[in-house]
Amino acid sequence: MNAKCILCERVDELDNREFKTKQLRNKPIRMYLCPECEHRVAINTISRVNSGHFNFHKPVVISNSELKNMLADKDGTLAE
Ligand SMILES: [Zn+2]
Repeated sequence: MNAKCILCERVDELDNREFKTKQLRNKPIRMYLCPECEHRVAINTISRVNSGHFNFHKPVVISNSELKNMLADKDGTLAE
């Protein structure tokens, strides 16, 4: 199977036995990055994360017990 890198438009011949190729074939929306671009992006991302000026804007997932504790703490401080 051939895939074109979305960044440098290089066409790569992919090994059909690899899991990544199978994923790409089964879900056409998935984008393909050639190994060079992937490496470049990974290095830039890591350096950005390590620079300290980078915040993840992921939703914070709190378990029910943690939420309970937080609410209990809040109530405790309000009562004082
Ligand atoms: Zn590329």
